[in-house]
Amino acid sequence: MTRPDVTRVGALATALESAQDRLRAACVAADRDADDVELLVVTKFFPASDVLALVDLGCRSFGESREPEAGRKAAEVRSEVTDPLAFHMIGQIQTKKAKTVGRWADRVHSLATIRLTDALDDAATKALDSGERSVPLDVLLQINLDGAPDRGGVMPAHLDALADQVQAATALCLRGLMVIAPQEGTAEQWMATAAEIRERFLVGHPDATEFSAGMSGDLEEAVAHGSTCVRVGTAIMGSRPIVSP
Ligand SMILES: *Cc1c(COP(=O)(O)O)cnc(C)c1O
Repeated sequence: MTRPDVTRVGALATALESAQDRLRAACVAADRDADDVELLVVTKFFPASDVLALVDLGCRSFGESREPEAGRKAAEVRSEVTDPLAFHMIGQIQTKKAKTVGRWADRVHSLATIRLTDALDDAATKALDSGERSVPLDVLLQINLDGAPDRGGVMPAHLDALADQVQAATALCLRGLMVIAPQEGTAEQWMATAAEIRERFLVGHPDATEFSAGMSGDLEEAVAHGSTCVRVGTAIMGSRPIVSP
């Protein structure tokens, strides 16, 4: 497949470098090791050719949020690249789409319901049986920080029950937690709240150490509060087209 034109590749290279610089500076400011925070490039809405350009620039893991766009793109890119690449599902998943996500995703950041846990476990089990995947599906539980019902995420009070269900699943592996800071209030305040919830959660689930937090607008606050993975779209890819949900 062709790569994007030289202008686009140049823009991606420059933006990627500044995002990497920002992340490094955030780690220094928080007195953290830069290797402890992954930069996940969010490529939703952007073509497979952009992902290939990012692979050329050294990126190996990508975040996608819309199925079937995500599965198609992952297959297209993987067919052109010999290095192992990781594709993470970071958006809300309709139960009926769990089947395909269970085939291509290395990690799901947005698990929040019992129903989706069952559906993903089922899908990943089948994909393991058929050889479409070789390892269990890593999952993060998305926490709903402000209680807004349309926000996605599990309420903190139900977090432990959901974690127990994931741990009882055969083809899922509980890796940690994920948050999206709500618009109102400050990122600093939301990340501090998330860090408190995470601290309590880790007591009962000491192996679930991953913490996916921070996006283009709030990665510094997230890193200061323990993020192990920042999901950066706009700051690297440019603005996405506006679409109604
Ligand atoms: C789109 C998206 C991002 C990236 O957001 P930007 O503000 O563009 O960096 C991060 N996380 C999730 C869950 C997303 O859907």
